[in-house]
Amino acid sequence: MSRRAILLILLLFLGVAPATSQAPAPALGTVTYRISLPEPEHRWMQVDVTFPNLPAGPLQLRMSRSSPGRYALHEFAKNVFDVRVTDAAGAALAVTQPNPHQWDVPKHGDSVRVSYRIFGDRIDGTYLAIDSTHAHINMPAALMWARGLDDRPATVQFVPPAGRDWRVATQLLPGPDATTFSAPNLQYLMDSPSEFSSFALRMFSIPGVPGAPVFRLAVHHAGTDAEADAFVKDVERIVREARFVYGEYPAFEGNRYTFIADYLPWASGDAMEHRNSTILTSASSIRTNRLGLLGSVSHEFFHVWNVERMRPRSLEPFNFEEANMSGELWFAEGFTNYYEPLVLTRSGIMSLDTFAAGMADTINTVTLSPGRMLRSAEEMSQLAPFVDAATSIDPTSEPNTFISYYTWGEAIGLGLDLMLRERSSGKLTLDHYMRALWQKHGKPGGRRPGYVDHPYTMADLKSTLAAVSGDARFADDFFARYIQGREVVDYARLLDLAGLVLRPQSSEGFAGQIVLRDIQGRPRLAEAVPFGSPAYAAGLEHDDVFRSIGGVAVSGAGDVARAIRAGKPGDRVPIVFERRGQRVNATLRLMQDPRVELLPGERVGRAPTADQQRFRAQWLSSAAGNTF
Ligand SMILES: [Zn+2]
Repeated sequence: MSRRAILLILLLFLGVAPATSQAPAPALGTVTYRISLPEPEHRWMQVDVTFPNLPAGPLQLRMSRSSPGRYALHEFAKNVFDVRVTDAAGAALAVTQPNPHQWDVPKHGDSVRVSYRIFGDRIDGTYLAIDSTHAHINMPAALMWARGLDDRPATVQFVPPAGRDWRVATQLLPGPDATTFSAPNLQYLMDSPSEFSSFALRMFSIPGVPGAPVFRLAVHHAGTDAEADAFVKDVERIVREARFVYGEYPAFEGNRYTFIADYLPWASGDAMEHRNSTILTSASSIRTNRLGLLGSVSHEFFHVWNVERMRPRSLEPFNFEEANMSGELWFAEGFTNYYEPLVLTRSGIMSLDTFAAGMADTINTVTLSPGRMLRSAEEMSQLAPFVDAATSIDPTSEPNTFISYYTWGEAIGLGLDLMLRERSSGKLTLDHYMRALWQKHGKPGGRRPGYVDHPYTMADLKSTLAAVSGDARFADDFFARYIQGREVVDYARLLDLAGLVLRPQSSEGFAGQIVLRDIQGRPRLAEAVPFGSPAYAAGLEHDDVFRSIGGVAVSGAGDVARAIRAGKPGDRVPIVFERRGQRVNATLRLMQDPRVELLPGERVGRAPTADQQRFRAQWLSSAAGNTF
């Protein structure tokens, strides 16, 4: 490699275009944004936008109500204030507001300038956060856009606060200087969160990978450089291992992928996928929560294939004005959730015991949640607008009627992987299924950057399973029972193939998965009582306060839990509780605890056979050849 080539690459790493290559002038009609931070400590920023070359007719300016990858509606317009709309010469234009999210400019000339201030104080994958240490910008929460100009390119200039040398971590494409970037269209712009701060930057590329994409980790944290150095090594292990599932990396726009991490005590825990980047936020740190943070890295990186490029038709293109509903999130999020610990385990970051414990939690949730009697995995996916960062002041029936499509989809992924392996004596796995979908729906890409031209439907997912397994009846049956129906696979039998033992957690008395807390010094049911549980049959409900169990007075949540555990399945235990000011006598009929645990056979005196060892190794060992 020549010295000039090295210099060029260095400059590109820094997001700086070399002086010799003049950046092209913005295309006619480019929307230009300027973001500045005169008083970041007060948590607002200034946005100045110019919309040039406008067609005749009213201009409709909008703040988004949804954000890519987040399914509940959000009212981002609520934090916008001090809106001024002028012509190119600075003369004020008349504006009306037909709804809370929109500013109409009925009469205007060739171009319109809009300036506004916007407040933001939440660090996560959806909102806007500004303080003396950074501007953490999710675009839908920050940028006003104009209806009908979706195909216009945009530039974004970031102006640092006085005296600060903040840099920008973003998937936006590099522009004429280090703080100006571009997006080819509105979809790409909205999908491009940006961290503007003095973060730690680490980079790596993987030898032998076609196109040599550059992976960047920008960490805004309170930790040390040594922690960032160690963390990026773990991130690299994940990035290497995930590739083996699909056989290749996608073609990243700009040929780079950026992990944007804000690990700060004042951050909210979240992670959000984007085409060529991810936002990872946590109140914990690399030092205290390495495995937890790497779980999000693994999950979000898997999304560069599954969701960002293999995308359900129901989400393409993303609608910034309405809730986006999809019946395929059990696959988009759930299968990604399955690969999250699988990739960590294959890359040697997660132990077999931790992997097994996680799968047991998933199996318990899906198998035992009462919601499974009411809705399928497809129907749970369609509830995302009500549960994915949705807030309401009135309580919901969610604990009894909803199972997360992350968890249920993970359980389906586990079941399908094991079934494919069993049917083919290990020759066919879920990786083959993911690869087939990638070839058909992801790899062909889109004619416009940020778009997907071959999104999939439920029928595509099913027909690809039929093709991969060579058995259309198997695919029909699998979808009918486990995805559009409410059944679960026989996990105990399938996991036994890998020498993993699924067995009851306990033989103590059980009244249902009730949540008891001492509230105002008394043992109170702190959440909804599960449908079908002994507690439900006894008439207990959220807010009831226990007074006695088996004739013995109880004064704390610990007393109640101990009294229940001391009973035997089948026992009929008299209870007294207090509800809405009245005393109620009832009988609690205890049952066998249905919850299971999952353990490697060798931990419980059942050493795996050679077949089980082989199955386990094929499933959980690195495709790079590290044996488990
Ligand atoms: Zn996800």
